[in-house]
Amino acid sequence: MKKPTLVNHPPVVDVPADNRPVVAPIYQTVKFEFDSVDEAVRAGRGERPGFAYMRASNPTARQLELTLAQVQGRDDCVVCASGIGVIAQTLLSLTRAGDHVLGFVESYGPTRHLLRTLAKFGVTHTLLSIEDLAGVERVLSQQPTRLIIFESPTNPVNKIADIAALTRLARAHGALTVLDNTFAGVHQHGQYDVDLFLHSLTKLVSGHGDVMGGAAIGRADLIKGMRSDFTVLGGTLDPHAAYLLQRGLKTYFVRFRAQCESAQRVAELLARHPCVARTHYPGLAADSGHALASAQMSGFGVVVSFSLKGGADAGRRFTDALQLFSMAASVGATDSLVMPPQLLASRDLNAEQQRISGMGPGIVRLSIGLEDCEDLLADLEQALAATGGSGY
Ligand code: PLP
Repeated sequence: MKKPTLVNHPPVVDVPADNRPVVAPIYQTVKFEFDSVDEAVRAGRGERPGFAYMRASNPTARQLELTLAQVQGRDDCVVCASGIGVIAQTLLSLTRAGDHVLGFVESYGPTRHLLRTLAKFGVTHTLLSIEDLAGVERVLSQQPTRLIIFESPTNPVNKIADIAALTRLARAHGALTVLDNTFAGVHQHGQYDVDLFLHSLTKLVSGHGDVMGGAAIGRADLIKGMRSDFTVLGGTLDPHAAYLLQRGLKTYFVRFRAQCESAQRVAELLARHPCVARTHYPGLAADSGHALASAQMSGFGVVVSFSLKGGADAGRRFTDALQLFSMAASVGATDSLVMPPQLLASRDLNAEQQRISGMGPGIVRLSIGLEDCEDLLADLEQALAATGGSGY
């Protein structure tokens, strides 16, 4: 073998079967070969296990899929490159021209954008408030509906969906339920009759704000059909990203518990602060979603939203004054983040939709990280004082 050949066919280092790596390696390879044409054909037909091409599947992503499916309490999972990617690919995979989809005004803005985009493919949608169960029943009984896509808690005002009621209504009318479970986390809501859980893995699963990913988790038959569509839609999760997400999962439960504890204390500080008009956190006894969240969730999440009496201007001053919170999109990382009202506006909603969404003009969203909670509370206190609001 000449040297140019050798460097393209390097020596194989086999790891003995009784000498396994403790951390699974990253399979950074696009292609997987077979020893014979017959075996490659058998693998293609699903008659034997194996991998062929990274875009269809790879062992690093597969380990992540199997872990996520078990944590969420479902048969199977398919991962892709981002949270919005998994929403887009799921909607494209599950709908066809003539279908109707039910969504909610409180949803993540880009999800509403995707619902509008589906009109290009002949898929119509209705937007209601997540609190409007009578409206959901009315729409489902008036119009055949392919699926209901919803969140709980919602981004950014932490409304809580009545998951038992929504899934019961959907089942009665033959609609699939698709729950974007990003804010609750991958360990939550598995006890409900939800067909498909979607997650932005970028948030709580990564936990470190350094990698993106998305996952759809559900029954094997549903995921099987979606997987073949996902393969050709092309939003592949790179094995290196899959590895980082798998690593993030190792500390997921410890991070989630600690961040929820701090979020609760932050919410309590805000709720009793004279400058704050309203605090949105389901862990607060006074929150409209508290009873439902207490029954549905274990841990109320790491996001706390609130509105200042001084409105959007006070929100700007508050955000500029914070020292420990980075003004940045995203949630769920170990470092605390803030989004001011100016960057949270939902311009696609009309005045009535804005009203029912609960998104007042001065909403600020905090994502609580793993810093010492006393430091966070002190930073929030000084930033609230800097708003010059009516409490001072
Ligand atoms: N779903 C929710 C509820 C989100 O908050 C986000 C991002 O903020 C997404 C989906 C999209 O995730 P990604 O940023 O990984 O595309």
